This record gives sequence, structure tokens and C-alpha cells, in this order.
Amino acid sequence: MVSGPGGVGKGTVCAELVDRYADDFWLSRSWTTRERRPGEAEDAYVFVDRATFEQAIADGGFLEYAEFLDNYYGTPIPMAPAGQDLILEIDVQGARQVVETNADALLIFLVAPSAEEQEARLRRRGDPPDKVAQRLAKAAEEANAGAELGAHVIVNVDINETVEQMESYIRAARLSR
Ligand code: 5GP
Repeated sequence: MVSGPGGVGKGTVCAELVDRYADDFWLSRSWTTRERRPGEAEDAYVFVDRATFEQAIADGGFLEYAEFLDNYYGTPIPMAPAGQDLILEIDVQGARQVVETNADALLIFLVAPSAEEQEARLRRRGDPPDKVAQRLAKAAEEANAGAELGAHVIVNVDINETVEQMESYIRAARLSR
């Protein structure tokens, strides 16, 4: 599981990890009720309305789901091919749910090099100013929750270094199983 506050680069890092080690990792695609951001890839999420999401909850269709800043986000029951590790890019509430049923799930928590850099990244990707403020305000709370869950923390300065560190944490976890 990869968590971290908005604007920290989780999406980019996860995409790179899966791209680089395509035989080893499988990236889950989440569902959300949030609107697609301008310029955001159509397949970044399965974008659905609240009624569709709530029906999927009722049908038991999610491994975990959470409400984050007034929208639902959830991981559909994953279908990773045998032998591949499942990568979930989820918030800390979701990570807590997954740990309850999968005690050996590994949590990596990404942090930005500085609050200024995080804010700049949120603005660059086109978040409206009120959303930027909300996401920044949540960052400390999320970091505390990550620490409680025993997350491995990586400061995301350079994407290559971050991906290498993630890969080594994951390999180490595999060996210890
Ligand atoms: P964003 O709106 O920035 O794409 O995502 C907001 C938050 O929801 C981020 O912390 C992101 O990691 C998290 N998130 C994305 N997909 C899921 C999911 O399937 N489940 C949970 N619990 N959180 C998710």
C-alpha cells in the first residue's frame, strides 16, 4: 500500500514502479465519486456517481473503501495474477482496513520534501485553491495515522530513488514472509 498526502507524487511513483517491474507488480485501479480533474487521465480511476458507488458497497464489491474530503474512494476486490504483488494507492483509512484483514500488508508513506513543494505540486495539477488548503490541512493527520500503522516513510525528492527504495522495502518484506 502506498499512502501520503495529496501532491506528494503517489500516482507517478506507483505508475513508474509497475512500469519498471511489470512482471512483479499489479496496480489496482480504484473507484471514486470525485470529479475528474482537468488533464487527469481518464483511466486514473473508475469515475462513478454516489449511487453507483453505494450499490457496489452493498454488493460487497470492495476490499476497502473510505470517504476522503466528501468523496468515496474504494479498492474493488482485486484480481492480481498469481505470483504478483498487489499495489494499492490508498489513503490511511483504507490502509488501516486492509491491515486488519491482511496483517502482513506493507505500508509505504510518501512525504514531500517540504510543505511549499507539496503546495506547488497541488496547484500545478489544477486543484482549486479551497481543495489545496483542505489537502494540506489533512497532511499532518495522515502522517500520524501512517506512523501508527508502522509505515515505511520515504521523502519523495527524486522519483528514481523513491522507486528503488520502495522496491527494496517490498523485496525485504517478501523475504521475511
Ligand atoms: P485524489 O483525490 O488525490 O486522487 O485522492 C485522494 C486520496 O484518496 C489520496 O490519499 C488517495 O491515495 C486516496 N485513494 C485513492 N484511491 C483510494 C482507494 O481505493 N481507497 C482509499 N481508501 N483511498 C484511496
